[in-house]
Amino acid sequence: MKTRVIKLCTALLAFGVFSGCSPTSATSDTQQSRRGALTLSPNAAVAQANDASSRQAAEQSKRAEFPLNLSDAQWRQRLTPAQYHVLREEGTERAFSGEYDKHDEPGVYNCAACDHPLFSSQTKFDSRTGWPSFYQPISADNIATSADHKLRSKRTEVHCANCGGHLGHVFRDGPKPTGLRYCVNSVALKFEAAGE
Ligand code: FE
Repeated sequence: MKTRVIKLCTALLAFGVFSGCSPTSATSDTQQSRRGALTLSPNAAVAQANDASSRQAAEQSKRAEFPLNLSDAQWRQRLTPAQYHVLREEGTERAFSGEYDKHDEPGVYNCAACDHPLFSSQTKFDSRTGWPSFYQPISADNIATSADHKLRSKRTEVHCANCGGHLGHVFRDGPKPTGLRYCVNSVALKFEAAGE
């Protein structure tokens, strides 16, 4: 009887040890596969670097087509780091953080980089997205657009037509009369009150 009890305990212990190992093995496999997913082959890394540099070159040539064409050093000198990030690096300010999101005084919103007039307060509306939104620019000639493929879904990027600075994006879910929503970063704008 004593021998049988010892054998039973040994069997239970063995089962416990092996079943307890299983999750550890699974974790280890998962870590392995995660590691595999995060590790790029040298060829893939080179392809990615080439993609990035060709995108950068395309951006630079796109920007060179605008009337006001300053060097990168000049832009860095002229803009605050936050303005530079949005206007020259196509960054996006945090939603609900910009000074013009809830701003409703009458006037004109100019480009923060070059003072080019972009939007009128008369076409501003509350989109509840956390970014200043307009249903049309002050004039179609004052802005420029380009295709933005940075996200999985293609978006239309909006630029200042004078300096090429990135302002935001335009979407087709705006109010009447245009049905458009120009979603713009506050930091890319400089407000000029009416009559000033
Ligand atoms: Fe500009």
